Amino acid sequence: MTIEDKKEAAEKPLNFIEKIVEEDLRAGKNGGRVLTRFPPEPNGYLHIGHAKSICLNFGLANRYGGQTNLRFDDTNPVTEDTEYVESIKADVRWLGFEWANEFYASDYFDTLYNLAIDLIKKGLAYVDDSTAAQIAEQKGTPTEPGTGNEYRNRSIEENLALFEGMRNGQFAEGTKVLRAKIDLAAPNMLLRDPLLYRIKFAHHHRTGNKWCVYPMYDFAHGQSDSIEKITHSICTLEFVPHRDLYDWCIEKLGIFPSKQYEFARLNMTHTVMSKRKLLQLVNEGFVSGWDDPRMPTISGLRRRGFTPESIREFCDRIGIARHENLISFSLLEFCVREHLNKKARRVMAVLDPIKVIITNYPENQTELLSTENNPEDPEAGVRQVPFSRELYIEREDFMENPPPPKKWFRLGPGLMARLKSAYIIQCHDFVKDQNGHITELHCTYVANSKSGQDESGIVVKGTLHWVSVQHAHAAEVRLYDRLFKAEDMSQAEGNFQDHINPESLQRTTAFVEPCLAEAQIGQNYQFVRKGYFCLDTDSTPQKLVFNRTVTLKDSWAKVK
Ligand code: ATP
Ligand code: MG
Repeated sequence: MTIEDKKEAAEKPLNFIEKIVEEDLRAGKNGGRVLTRFPPEPNGYLHIGHAKSICLNFGLANRYGGQTNLRFDDTNPVTEDTEYVESIKADVRWLGFEWANEFYASDYFDTLYNLAIDLIKKGLAYVDDSTAAQIAEQKGTPTEPGTGNEYRNRSIEENLALFEGMRNGQFAEGTKVLRAKIDLAAPNMLLRDPLLYRIKFAHHHRTGNKWCVYPMYDFAHGQSDSIEKITHSICTLEFVPHRDLYDWCIEKLGIFPSKQYEFARLNMTHTVMSKRKLLQLVNEGFVSGWDDPRMPTISGLRRRGFTPESIREFCDRIGIARHENLISFSLLEFCVREHLNKKARRVMAVLDPIKVIITNYPENQTELLSTENNPEDPEAGVRQVPFSRELYIEREDFMENPPPPKKWFRLGPGLMARLKSAYIIQCHDFVKDQNGHITELHCTYVANSKSGQDESGIVVKGTLHWVSVQHAHAAEVRLYDRLFKAEDMSQAEGNFQDHINPESLQRTTAFVEPCLAEAQIGQNYQFVRKGYFCLDTDSTPQKLVFNRTVTLKDSWAKVK
């Protein structure tokens, strides 16, 4: 932490969870211990919403000298997979966090089973033979109490025997459930005898075929927190109604009193964030995979060139609140732009090339011109860029009929501009093909105008990027736009897939500076005037592929 960071941290008001933690510490609760957990279900890849939860949980622990457990909430055998477990661990580490312990809710299946028996023995749980529809109907409505059924009055002995039978595979799926016996008239519908266990003859990614009964979320989650002695169990707002049940189980079982706190989930513009929908995008072929650079997943953002620092900064800026809102994707882009401006090396690449011939420059001559790698970072050093008679410049930097001189500082017939780190050139002529398409510009260079030692006395305003035709490498460049057209996908009508932006990916062939042949995955570059780019995982030594992470300016705000 620099002094500025410390000052900023000191001045930043505490969020409501930090306030709670500080009160608890002052009151000497939990012996001054802070233990949080991040509890993903391994049924998909992590997304930027999870990053908010990760930054919050690990951030609290870091700030207050505590620790964070990574707990896989793997109580639903049908949707879970070890591929997801591995990706989640890689993503949390990439974001810059290290967990104290790696746990699995499935490690607690025996303990949880015994806790359920405890509840039965206390007369607080029973086996119900009703169908799901009957149970729903007997629950009543928010204004009418539930009716219940005869199974509610089963004896403790009968319940113990039946639950054991469930566990031993004596009953078919859907024929019996274990329910808590709480209150069929409770104003909170979740307290009207919620389900604790269901029968499922499914293979589990860790416990194999050992179990055919699995705990419900509400019975697994709070108890897992308690088993680990989590002090602050932080979840999203949809779990507010579950808190009563969380507390009820802990109280009745007399186990460690973990406490649940809720914050607003992250919603972002122009994307969807539920793993179910993201999985559909993958399975239905709308994207190339979970790590498609248009996906809001951590792996997608990483592949696109986002840095962990920029994601953490984003999470810090959006803060923690108790009401839901919609955060603009542009804010995340702002954060990565700021970070890359400091760290990305500047290089030249021409995305839509037009050839320039410098008619007064000797054929077969190559000059190496020094250019700074990053003007924001003197330590980044300089490199040599080859310059020769034939160059590519950006097609949009030439206009056949340019506007008046004060509005156009780039090339046109008779006009002058500077080539970055090189010379001033003047355009004299251009060549068109039979379709009227300009194929070539003929220019001259001013020999004594070399950057850094300019003695020409000529003043030009425009500086253009370029690459030398003979030295450049061709590369596929992928330009991305918003994945969905609708700003607020929670309000979008019909199938969410109908709102996909058909122009979210454009591919072009660009010409890049020779140094980019050595580009590495994970390195970020600024393609001068064109944005921040990184090498894509599809790239091979034979075929370079670059992703545009973000443009240099927020073009989206303008288009809107
Ligand atoms: P999804 O709805 O995307 O499938 P989930 O809540 O089912 O997400 P989990 O794997 O259960 O995903 O989430 C792990 C943790 O991340 C939970 O504590 C959850 O509250 C949190 N989380 C999930 N989505 C968001 C979000 N959009 N914003 C903030 N936290 C989130
Ligand atoms: Mg969940």
